[in-house]
Amino acid sequence: MTMMLENKVAVVTGGAAGIGRSIALTMAKEGANIAILDVCKPETAEEACALIAETGATVKFYHCDVSNFELVDTTIKQVIADLGGVDILVNNAGITRDSLLVSMKEEDFDKVIAINLKGVFNTIHACYHHFMRKRSGRIINISSVTGLMGNPGQANYTAAKAGIIGLTKTTAKELASRGVTCNAIAPGFIQTAMTDVLSDKAKDAMLGAVPMKRMGQPEDIAKTALYLASDLSSYVTGEVIRVDGGMCM
Ligand code: NAP
Repeated sequence: MTMMLENKVAVVTGGAAGIGRSIALTMAKEGANIAILDVCKPETAEEACALIAETGATVKFYHCDVSNFELVDTTIKQVIADLGGVDILVNNAGITRDSLLVSMKEEDFDKVIAINLKGVFNTIHACYHHFMRKRSGRIINISSVTGLMGNPGQANYTAAKAGIIGLTKTTAKELASRGVTCNAIAPGFIQTAMTDVLSDKAKDAMLGAVPMKRMGQPEDIAKTALYLASDLSSYVTGEVIRVDGGMCM
């Protein structure tokens, strides 16, 4: 049986945990070899790599903070040397530093923008010429429905997630004629470490806004990422796909 991503190489930032791990695993099951760029604890990296290796895929872990422009550039060069190229770039690494705007510390605004938005620029910049030369490539950026709707307490995060959408569309327009697509996924309320820290009250309030009345699972996002990485989406670019149980229609 042929697999959807046979012999492809996927770079997944923040791929050791949560949504990123699920995306990496799903792509590995469809034949892709995987490069994880993450800053997680060594045991988290080992666990993710062991799970992915069980699929038979080659998996490599790179300790790389996506907000570091130079480091991202050298790490992508190393991935190309190690795995023979990059076909799919999934920009998934992200953090939250929530508080109402009036009490938000400048450093918390800057840090979230540096990782969640500039990190996406950094990896696309590092892969740009490689994709142009190959005349193919898939870029998948993980935004958020909060970037579409706004969310009290998340001025930094929502600005970054809305910024990702502009960055996605510009990249899509610049690279479309070179056979490279760039799309965004806007997840809703997904069960991961990022949302585990919310209070029960906050979780209930968010669930109340979800017509499907359940939290999403990382696999719900991974299936959409697989679609955007595969030939099934060959004429789709500059799109933002909400995967949110109807939360933001
Ligand atoms: P998560 O469980 O916290 O996993 C994020 C991963 O990214 C972790 O391994 C984390 O490492 C890593 N990371 C953090 N900073 C990094 C950096 N500077 N460079 C490289 N890796 C870094 O989060 P998640 O819920 O899976 O979220 C994944 C993406 O989906 C994020 O962009 C998030 O904004 C987006 N999203 C999530 C939801 C949701 O409901 N969960 C909704 C909408 C959008 P550490 O654990 O060591 O920090």
